[in-house]
Amino acid sequence: MSKYYISPILEKIRKSSLSNDLQYAHEAAIDYIDKLDGRSVFPSESSIKNLSIFDEELDNKPCSGKEVLDLLHNYGSPATVTQTSGRYFGFVVGGILPSALTSKWLTDVWDQNSAMYVMSPVAAKIEEVTEKWLVDILDLPEETVAGFVNGSSTAITIGLNTGRNYVYNNLGYDVIRDGLSGAPKIKIIVGEDAHSTVYKALSILGLGNDNLVKVPVDDQGRMLADKMPELDKSTLLVLQAGNVNTGSFDPFDKICKKAKDAGAYIHIDGAFGLWANACDKLKHLTKGMEYADSWSTDGHKTLNVPYDSGIVFSRHRDMLVNSMHMTGSYIILSDQRDSMLYTSDMSRRARAIDVWATLKGLGRDGVNELVYELHQKAVYFGDLLREAGLEILNDIVFNQLLVRYESDEKTEKLISEVQKSGVCWLGGAKHKGKSVMRISVSSYKTTYEDVKMSAEDIIRIAKTL
Ligand SMILES: *Cc1c(COP(=O)(O)O)cnc(C)c1O
Repeated sequence: MSKYYISPILEKIRKSSLSNDLQYAHEAAIDYIDKLDGRSVFPSESSIKNLSIFDEELDNKPCSGKEVLDLLHNYGSPATVTQTSGRYFGFVVGGILPSALTSKWLTDVWDQNSAMYVMSPVAAKIEEVTEKWLVDILDLPEETVAGFVNGSSTAITIGLNTGRNYVYNNLGYDVIRDGLSGAPKIKIIVGEDAHSTVYKALSILGLGNDNLVKVPVDDQGRMLADKMPELDKSTLLVLQAGNVNTGSFDPFDKICKKAKDAGAYIHIDGAFGLWANACDKLKHLTKGMEYADSWSTDGHKTLNVPYDSGIVFSRHRDMLVNSMHMTGSYIILSDQRDSMLYTSDMSRRARAIDVWATLKGLGRDGVNELVYELHQKAVYFGDLLREAGLEILNDIVFNQLLVRYESDEKTEKLISEVQKSGVCWLGGAKHKGKSVMRISVSSYKTTYEDVKMSAEDIIRIAKTL
């Protein structure tokens, strides 16, 4: 017997069977998946009401693993939005490919910290390989490196941070050392339809939101290349692959080479659209993107990797590492991959393994086909709705559709009735001042049958308005 304290609670947890609990979690998960197809895509009012079971004070006493799971499965599972079914079109959320989900289960048990090689050689190895595969499949310049973060919001922030430091460096100013207060002026250029996370990133980085040059866009949200102001080495230019409403792409072939020759720094926000470059038939959309300096994308959208999976790519390894570098006497860097050098995080889960498993499970051809099929399903959706008299406001170049039914009022009513019906789920937006129904096709799970069923429900409801 030890004279030191033994916690009875921890002792009990140590002695309980983890393998029984894992088995139980496994059964609950299978049960969830088995019931998915018969469910309303958005949870019922009663399931949402039942969530009040979670409104309790934290008990002094512990609770078994099984009890924890029971609460989650009995009350949590029915209240989920079934994003992993084939009929969720609300936001670009992707799905979970089986190879990624199952490998995540296994690697969750590993619980590796991927900050440094010395903390997890396997996480470092797989991350290094995943970086190479991504650079290859997205056809990025061979010197490109990748940082694995939680989403595009962070990936954009890191890309623009590197860009900011790069531009100040061009101007002979060391912003890492001397800070922003005495810094020279730089020119920040965005498209009028830039995603709001770009504005957030700029504000986090101390670059402000009001002093930007906003380049006008066409009716699809694409920057007008001939409206681009003068570019030089004091310019930070932010472009977009995949407009959040229309799915359109800025004309990289008309902008990027010129901007690069002028000495500007270019970042491309390609949260879901960058994957066009991994698809033979859609690669024309991203032509010219290879001249950029950094790119950000999500694994958890088009590639159908589980959350959370954002990736920042940079062709300036040293500049990125300088921007993210941290030191401490206890930090042990190696001559292997130390992943924290590429991201704003230090400790984090080994999320690159999810991307690796997805790529490995799909193969090069699978990625190509996934991206193309998402596009084709969006085109089919558009055809069905158009034939029935609804208006499609955008060119369906990728996976996005904007649909309108006669007036703002009818369109908004249609959206809320479709949401209630439960066959599918989608949201609304404003496009050029008009109310639109916004449809994103982003899951491998979606079949043409799902699209047909969903379109028929939308058309049926429209006719009742
Ligand atoms: C989704 C999205 C983002 C933000 O990505 P998160 O992964 O949600 O942080 C940024 N830009 C565009 C174009 C997006 O579609």
